[in-house]
Amino acid sequence: MQDRNEYKQRVLISEKQIRESVQVMGQRIAADYGEEPLTIIGCLKGSFIFMADLVRAIPRSLHIDFIEVSSYGNDLSSSGNVRIVKDFKHPVQDSHVLIVEDIVDTGLTFDFLFEHIQLKKPASLEIAALLVRSTVDLQKRPVKYHGFTIGEEFVVGYGLDAAGLYRNLDHVAVFEQ
Ligand code: 5GP
Repeated sequence: MQDRNEYKQRVLISEKQIRESVQVMGQRIAADYGEEPLTIIGCLKGSFIFMADLVRAIPRSLHIDFIEVSSYGNDLSSSGNVRIVKDFKHPVQDSHVLIVEDIVDTGLTFDFLFEHIQLKKPASLEIAALLVRSTVDLQKRPVKYHGFTIGEEFVVGYGLDAAGLYRNLDHVAVFEQ
């Protein structure tokens, strides 16, 4: 394994920037949903750290569940397929649902999750993503809450991996082989 310090030198988004952005996002979500029933569904594995920080930044009671999907292999490009590895369990009919994603890249996962969860008839369905690629058409794929817009670089850290590694970095770094 390569030394994680090597990646600290290629920081794209710092731990402090992430922390501030997540706090603002949490406050916005709390204000937007008021006292309405809210279920937050984290999309594994990449969202697990963002999810843990975000839910703690939302000062209200909420249900938390996870779905695991797979769309990437161990390479650095999308396979174009999204499939469910582990489905969420919490009944969401008539509850507001917020999906939490690490990054909206091609938007295939966004489309898949939207369609899959919409079938369960939630009161509303929105997406929060830490990162959105600048190429994403936000008219077509409205990501209601997002932290940062990034370019084409492949990133790791704060939940995001390269071949299973670097998820535990406290910042987002550009991955270079
Ligand atoms: P989609 O292309 O469906 O929008 O994104 C699918 C998934 O690909 C994301 O949830 C994320 O796990 C992964 N992904 C996309 N871009 C990157 C990236 O730059 N780095 C990492 N580690 N994963 C990415």
